[in-house]
Amino acid sequence: MTSRIPVNDLARHAALIRDELRRAVDRVIQSGWYVLGAECEAFEGEFARYCGVSHCVGVGNGTDGIEIALRAFGIGRGSRVATVANAGFYTTTALLALGAEPIYVDVDPNSQLMDVEDLGRVIDGKSISAIVVTHLFGLLCDMDAIFKISKASGIPILEDCAQAHGAAHLGRKAGSFGHAASFSFYPTKNLGALGDGGAITTNDRNLAAQLRSLRQYGWESKYRAVVSGGRNSRLDEMQAAILRAKLPLLEGWNRRRRTIAARYSAEIVNPRVACPRARGEEYVAHLYVVTCKDRDGLRTHLSDALISTDVHYPIPDHQQPVLAGKLEGATLPVTEALAPRILTLPCYPELTDGEVTRVIETVNDW
Ligand SMILES: *Cc1c(COP(=O)(O)O)cnc(C)c1O
Repeated sequence: MTSRIPVNDLARHAALIRDELRRAVDRVIQSGWYVLGAECEAFEGEFARYCGVSHCVGVGNGTDGIEIALRAFGIGRGSRVATVANAGFYTTTALLALGAEPIYVDVDPNSQLMDVEDLGRVIDGKSISAIVVTHLFGLLCDMDAIFKISKASGIPILEDCAQAHGAAHLGRKAGSFGHAASFSFYPTKNLGALGDGGAITTNDRNLAAQLRSLRQYGWESKYRAVVSGGRNSRLDEMQAAILRAKLPLLEGWNRRRRTIAARYSAEIVNPRVACPRARGEEYVAHLYVVTCKDRDGLRTHLSDALISTDVHYPIPDHQQPVLAGKLEGATLPVTEALAPRILTLPCYPELTDGEVTRVIETVNDW
């Protein structure tokens, strides 16, 4: 009997590293210290080294990472921040929490990443205080091109690396390009905890100090609040220890993801289905997203063959009901045209070669 191929399978993932996870959790239980201790500090050092930056600050989740980093940039009520509308409403959530206004930039129809020309238009036309650049689906944005456009203006850049742990350009990793970068360790991410977690990376020592205050009540030292806009958003010891156990395995998992994505791009030959082109180190295949005019037809065909899929993301940010009537008429033709066509195929390290073949053959049969 054929069994269903889920769009992700965290139980499979955890089963393969159960001993490492158990050791990490036991160490924390034994330590008697559960929030902001030795594990978090060690993970911050290890993850900073992995990303090739000088500072890493653990926070509660990726959305808080975006909010806290932007707060440290000086973003607040009335600030305008350029970002994309196809990345799942996370950055918009952070902006709304800050009282800032999202200024949406359209995306490139092939990469689905921020359209650099459109960013130029937005920078020229609006007074923008920061740019959030999302390495969507695990594909690094063209940071050279983005800096070329933004440099003269001096606008600070935050990389959203929630889907791009380990993506690199000429050996330089995601999270080391912007003035700061935020990461999520939500369980499904390329590097995921067993619960919520996040981090912010930067090479700016003063900014790092600011971030450390902001994640804990605005404290400069214990019980002395100095920085306004403080939060309680911390990476706990349990999650930090789990992430330390998993970090050494990340490169191998990313290679496996990339191999699966490369097979899809080479072997899916159905003319009605457009695949992303094969990529190198700049893509860590967090999500493998195809486009198709009859997306729902393809989705039903796969589901009937016991292959689960998902849509990342069905509703562009500017069309979310919660924003109705609140934004001055943003129109994003490419973003809007892509939303009903995108479909995410299963792509995670624990898929077997046989399952990958089954997905390919089922798409080609349609
Ligand atoms: C997951 C994700 C986030 C948010 O992370 P959480 O930890 O769930 O808050 C932000 N941006 C992108 C692109 C994501 O995929």
